Amino acid sequence: MPPRRNPTREVTIGSIMIGGGQPVVVQSMCATKTTDVEACVAQIEALAAAGAGVVRLAADRPEDVEALRAVHDRTGANLAVDLQENYRLAEELAPLVQKIRYNPGHLYHFERQRPWQDKVKEIVDAAVRHDCAIRIGVNCGSVDPAKRAQFDADDHVGPMLASALEHCALLGDLGFTRYCVSLKDSHPFRVIEANRRFAAQQPEVPLHLGVTEAGMPPEGVTKTRMALGPLLAEGIGDTIRVSLTLPAAEKVQEIEAGRQILVDVAAGRFDASAEPVMPPTEPQGLNIISCPSCARVENEAFIDLARRIRDMTRYAADEPITIAVMGCRVNGPGETDDADLGVWCGPKTVHLKRSGEPLGTFGYDEILARLKTELDRLIAQRRS
Ligand code: SF4
Repeated sequence: MPPRRNPTREVTIGSIMIGGGQPVVVQSMCATKTTDVEACVAQIEALAAAGAGVVRLAADRPEDVEALRAVHDRTGANLAVDLQENYRLAEELAPLVQKIRYNPGHLYHFERQRPWQDKVKEIVDAAVRHDCAIRIGVNCGSVDPAKRAQFDADDHVGPMLASALEHCALLGDLGFTRYCVSLKDSHPFRVIEANRRFAAQQPEVPLHLGVTEAGMPPEGVTKTRMALGPLLAEGIGDTIRVSLTLPAAEKVQEIEAGRQILVDVAAGRFDASAEPVMPPTEPQGLNIISCPSCARVENEAFIDLARRIRDMTRYAADEPITIAVMGCRVNGPGETDDADLGVWCGPKTVHLKRSGEPLGTFGYDEILARLKTELDRLIAQRRS
């Protein structure tokens, strides 16, 4: 018997619908440069052929808009655009896609004096004019600073939830209901808590589920299953994405992993009736979080570096330490702040941080040895 589904409202995204009891849609995102039209079209077609109901691309600059225009003309797949930090592109992008994703925490980068409500209204107006859905995409690494400031530093879920609810209220005031929400964290249990609490308060809003920066397979798939399996079994979730650190050519693995989770939920392999186990708030062993890469990756060596870091750190598998590995200098600095050791990749160099404090910049051929030194130092300190 298919699992029970929460009675969310139906939201149309091009040729598909999410919510309202429709089958859960699996989606993914291009890791190709948005300006590389050939590569984007090839990746979109591969993901769609593997079962992606929606494929997302990132757009930040006017040249990305031009590229998306060319991509739009060459594919029939349902496209979503990630506005990243440049909400001002919404009006130009909306005619080219079926869904716009904006991040409430990224509305501050342009025109800081302008109220965020006005910026959201501009996005909503573009969506209405061009027949688009919207996703309010809240992410643990880039939560609205105003919301972050209202909660204790160790409360990760509260600020995400407050931000999402605030934006739902605004969209409601604007009379716009064609939207879904995501609350993503790199910690599977926080994803469960955030989505359970959101679903309890806004049961009619469709949810897009995912664990952000889940890492490399197989660990990244395991983390995602830990979060999405129980939620889906409870009826929470209308569309999912498995975010894995993979080269662009292997991104279809995200769709395969997502489809397998749905098969397992339908087969009852996640027990919705079981009492939720109190989750550990800290990782029990070495926890590597790494971003899935996107158009912003500045050096292809990022994926290989993430793999080498995983291999190099295997000797510390039992240490309760989190290492974050990020692919760009835009989100990398912020999204490595909470990790014990953070690495974010620029075009030619790699930046290393310890507990949010910068330790320096190293060559791609130097960073592994320096990271090992810091890891050994951290282990020795914690044991002393
Ligand atoms: S950290 Fe940068 S490269 Fe990685 S997914 Fe986020 S925006 Fe893309």
